[in-house]
Amino acid sequence: MSGSKYDDWSSSGGDDDDNDIEDESFSFLPICSFDPTSPTFDTLAAALQHDVINCGFDLLSHLPSPDNDEFYEGAIITVNKARSFVKDNCSMDKHELGDKLNEYLKSQTSSLDDDANVVYFKPQLEDDVILMCIDELQVLKGNASHDVSTSNSSTSSLPTESTKELHAKIELLEEQLAHAKKCIASFAMESEEPSQHKSDKPDNDTYYFSSYSNTTIHETMLRDTVRTAAYESAILSNSDSLFKGKTVLDIGCGTGVLSIFCAKAGAKKVIAIDATDVIKQAQQIIELNGYSNVITCVRGKVESLIENKALPLEEGETVDIIVSEWMGYALLFETMLPSVMVARDALMTPDTGTMYPNVTKIFIEAANDQQRLSYWDDVQGINMKPMKERMVEELTRDALVEVVDDNNIITNRAELIVYDLNTCRDEELDFEAPFELRLTDGATENGSTIEVHQLVISFDIDFSVPGTTSVSFSTGCQSIPTHWKQAVLWFDPFHNCPVLNKGEDSTLRGRFRMKRNENNHRAIDMAVLWETGSFSENGSIWKSTAEGVLKRCLKA
Ligand code: SAH
Repeated sequence: MSGSKYDDWSSSGGDDDDNDIEDESFSFLPICSFDPTSPTFDTLAAALQHDVINCGFDLLSHLPSPDNDEFYEGAIITVNKARSFVKDNCSMDKHELGDKLNEYLKSQTSSLDDDANVVYFKPQLEDDVILMCIDELQVLKGNASHDVSTSNSSTSSLPTESTKELHAKIELLEEQLAHAKKCIASFAMESEEPSQHKSDKPDNDTYYFSSYSNTTIHETMLRDTVRTAAYESAILSNSDSLFKGKTVLDIGCGTGVLSIFCAKAGAKKVIAIDATDVIKQAQQIIELNGYSNVITCVRGKVESLIENKALPLEEGETVDIIVSEWMGYALLFETMLPSVMVARDALMTPDTGTMYPNVTKIFIEAANDQQRLSYWDDVQGINMKPMKERMVEELTRDALVEVVDDNNIITNRAELIVYDLNTCRDEELDFEAPFELRLTDGATENGSTIEVHQLVISFDIDFSVPGTTSVSFSTGCQSIPTHWKQAVLWFDPFHNCPVLNKGEDSTLRGRFRMKRNENNHRAIDMAVLWETGSFSENGSIWKSTAEGVLKRCLKA
């Protein structure tokens, strides 16, 4: 089979990249100018001052206090609400717009407790650079609050000042900002080397990291006992063989759980890194449980911390073990692994150092979900076929994340790829692999044939460093479900869905491709070039019965 049929990956994503921000420098679109062709500014402070001068709108005055634990989320919600309001009212005169926007935001809360605010975590302006610089907003808000408290003004910096004063103020803010940038590990997108433009287009990191600021996601991960107990068992059962006296880096420590396991296992020094504010709780948890003499918490993106030499490591000091729980849906969704690999290449002790876990594998299997489809044939005696068609239309749009009942699985589970995490390279994370699936004996459904409705993708994780006790866990349908569930690619049962013959050597085979989405590298494009058929008696000649291409993007 040739790969040419699915060479065009971009068609499954469908997003356009016209609005990508320049990699070399940020250009900030003021809040009161929704039209992307309006003037933009090189600094955040200048864009905000433009709003103040032109429209009498001061974003900073609507943000939560910079000391507020929920500043980050509150600021995202406020910016997105303001953007949405401006979009809906762009025909207004600019002063009226500023006044109305002030009134609107005053009437709103940015509280996370307010369910209506959840939708405002979504950027209202594509690639909104202001959302990528929330930490800068926090610094500016801090300075503005300071100004307010040291002057007698009851509002923040609204336009009673002369242009000269404003320029001086902007300069001062920029100086402070530059200083703050050096001191804190920033969430902001770093500019990339020009040579990396193609593969490293900016995605919305702010949106990604803000999801990890939420308690629920950490609770979900901790309560996933298949996952958490596997890490615990792998670390604690290898105290003598791996951890005692070692230096460990925990990348993406979240609540600090893995760092604490490592300290319990006798690690000499553990550095716990996380890019989100949950690290404050990690620090408290570590103190509360008496491990602060071993574990040091550092907030920041691991890549930035390495680049800025902000980790508590001497010049040239390396780490023996990198512990991390970086896995996403279908293993590679979210694409956190490349960040861990950057740390591995920069900091892990050559030859003797190890990633933990150290091996992972991706699998494919096939399922039949006739029950779900047949449901619509007779709902309380009513034929609801149009609903079946509507459901199929929805199910076949993107890849889904669902727990697939093991009873629906009709074939073997075939391995697609194995990664040795100590050595794999970034380019191997986009891969193409052959697969071959055959009906298992237990494949049910009446009749002599069975339709394949879904391809199901899952992964296994191994802690199998030579000389240590091995521990693994699986996210396949045959194992206890984890919070990763399975990634499901639906065929369209009304159009060209593979059919296998029972009792024959009938096979579904093909090539499977997984690739980071060109426009958002945290999403994954998957494509399958498949054919059904069987081999002649002596097993040498393949007789093909049907073939097709399936493309799905895993977006969430
Ligand atoms: N280790 C924790 C949390 C795992 S979730 C546990 O096992 O429960 C992954 C964590 O990695 C999140 O908290 C996220 O904020 C963090 N993270 C993702 N990418 C990161 C990066 N590039 N640098 C630092 N932290 C990162």
